[in-house]
Amino acid sequence: MGLIVQKFGGTSVATAERINAAAKRVTDAYKAGNKVIVVVSARGQTTDELIDLAYEITDNPSSREMDMLMSTGEQISVALMAMAIHALGFPAVSFTGGQVGIVTDSYHTKARIRNINTTRIQKELDKGTIVIVAGFQGVDVNENITTLGRGGSDTTAVALAAIMKADRCDIYTDVDGIYTADPRKVPCARKLNRVSYDEILELASLGAQVMHSRSIEFAKKYNVPLYVRSSFNNSEGTLICKEVKEMENIVVSGVAVSKDDAKITIRGVPDVPGQAAKIFHDIAKKNINVDMIIQNASIEGRADVTFTVPRSDLRMALETAEKIKKELSAKEVLHDSKIAKLSVVGIGMRSHCGVAEKMFSVLAEEKINIQMISTSEIKISCVIDEAHAERAMRAVHTAFGLDKVEKEEVVKV
Ligand code: ASP
Ligand code: MG
Repeated sequence: MGLIVQKFGGTSVATAERINAAAKRVTDAYKAGNKVIVVVSARGQTTDELIDLAYEITDNPSSREMDMLMSTGEQISVALMAMAIHALGFPAVSFTGGQVGIVTDSYHTKARIRNINTTRIQKELDKGTIVIVAGFQGVDVNENITTLGRGGSDTTAVALAAIMKADRCDIYTDVDGIYTADPRKVPCARKLNRVSYDEILELASLGAQVMHSRSIEFAKKYNVPLYVRSSFNNSEGTLICKEVKEMENIVVSGVAVSKDDAKITIRGVPDVPGQAAKIFHDIAKKNINVDMIIQNASIEGRADVTFTVPRSDLRMALETAEKIKKELSAKEVLHDSKIAKLSVVGIGMRSHCGVAEKMFSVLAEEKINIQMISTSEIKISCVIDEAHAERAMRAVHTAFGLDKVEKEEVVKV
């Protein structure tokens, strides 16, 4: 007996049949004696369709009206979910984000939750009602509807679980859990039973499409264990939780590739104090997020500075780099947008050595050139040619022993 939050993603409520199946999971948890809060996403591709619709009207929709529009997707889902639960003979009530007191800032289409007034939810739960909340949305202090950024229903679920002190937050989705690599790219990827918040945060920001990053930050901050599992079957999912000692035995938990970045090199920057500060000050002023940076040893008083930026910002970054080149009397600006960032992540790296060496050796054996390297405590990333990304990912995955062991290959001794 306890309080459970169950979140159903878009594919899990895409059809009437799936809504009924989700409702059955909700009522099973309720029948077992739990109080249940359900958070739902918009059905199937609804959010994309709503966005397309807006752009059929205008190239420049106001972000306030976009939120008004996009939030309707989740509103459909909660109403249908409540009806499905009623049809099974149980009490349920649906609410918008605003109705359950989810107050956000006013940054339309990417709002952040500020606080949640739980009075209404609590009152319904106390009456024994199943509470169904529209994910992805809230209201600002002036009661304008806001949304939390694409994929934001995860964040709604985790925030509610945190503030209501839920015993569990189950994330029902269309995959069986979290894998050592994207199974579409690495067919022998293995499902993880357990993974830490920090590893997921690294993997998510590295291009593994797992969950909304902000939802994991929330879960970590309030220590909400998340259980990611499929809504289509009963197989065991992946528990995302705080780090425990045994996790350190696993050196690498996952491999990810991201192709979202581009590389810029400013050649022949005078090697005197203040140059890097100038370059990255100007780039930052354009609100461009720089990821990796390297500067080579200077030759004859000049150095090359290379950095990566989101591909979507490449044009703006190049314009800025050209300006900087002139101002610093540097030699030239080069760029490459056909790069990929390959990363291995694992909290075991803190206590094991030789991880970087192994990754580099694998790439060497595959004759793949490393263009840039960066590391954090639990991650090593290499920039390589985009054309080799998938091959490199598979080779590294195998080298770190992450491949799924087929049953028939298990030798009993
Ligand atoms: N419906 C929203 C989206 O597609 C939010 C979500 O699914 O979590 O981004
Ligand atoms: Mg979605």
